[in-house]
Amino acid sequence: MTAELWLDAHAYLRPLADLAAQVDRAAARIDVLDARIPDWEDYRTDFGAGVPLLASVDAGVDLESGGRMAAALLERLACETSPEWLVSETRALDTELRLEPQVSRRIADFLLGDATLTPRFPGLLRYLAWTAMARFLRPVVNAFDGWRDEERWLRRYCPTCGSLPAMAQLVGVDPGRMRLLSCGCCGTRWQFKRTGCPFCETDSQRLASVAIEGEPGLRIDHCEFCGGYLKTYDGQGNETLLLSDWSSLHLDLIAHDRGLKRLAASLYEFAPV
Ligand SMILES: [Zn+2]
Ligand SMILES: [Zn+2]
Repeated sequence: MTAELWLDAHAYLRPLADLAAQVDRAAARIDVLDARIPDWEDYRTDFGAGVPLLASVDAGVDLESGGRMAAALLERLACETSPEWLVSETRALDTELRLEPQVSRRIADFLLGDATLTPRFPGLLRYLAWTAMARFLRPVVNAFDGWRDEERWLRRYCPTCGSLPAMAQLVGVDPGRMRLLSCGCCGTRWQFKRTGCPFCETDSQRLASVAIEGEPGLRIDHCEFCGGYLKTYDGQGNETLLLSDWSSLHLDLIAHDRGLKRLAASLYEFAPV
């Protein structure tokens, strides 16, 4: 499945696809700064206690350079000529953030939940900054994947950045079939229980599944207890497209029509679709 074929069948997703492609192109032209891979032994205790990697003082992953990449991405998009709304909003953000001392640090803290930065377009900044930060963090995420004992995490939030999942994926074949949760922010995928709701504080097992007509490979799993739902990719090989969240925004509309609540983290709430 290519993005073009997908868009032929889902023309209403095209504005968002174009935006994602434009942002990815701009991000690809920014130099990737080096991220230091932590010494995993320093992090082992926090990992066991459920502290996400980026929140661990002992692991000491410094996000300042990722924040600098985010500021560079903003500056680059502010120099583009269309679409008009994107240019004007990135220019406003760029101008506003230039006034901040230590802007790279401020952006990095903002991504991890610091509420003292209150930009005019927080959703757009979050999306753009995570796009740059995910590129910065890729070597760390890959090394973390290699080190992490999945059986010892199995938590509902991302082991790297602490966000709730954006989507889920079912991989493998029975009896070894398993469910991965997918982080829409930093791009980590991690193992979670096959059944069980990732949004309930209590351990709710009351999950139901809705198949989507004409969309083999995608379904909506929802919790009868909290009303939360998780879009799930039931396949392998098209992760880049089908786990990107924007490519299945129509499933969010279907879920919304059924009275379900999006509790999953989304970077696309600002998007004009
Ligand atoms: Zn994450
Ligand atoms: Zn639930």
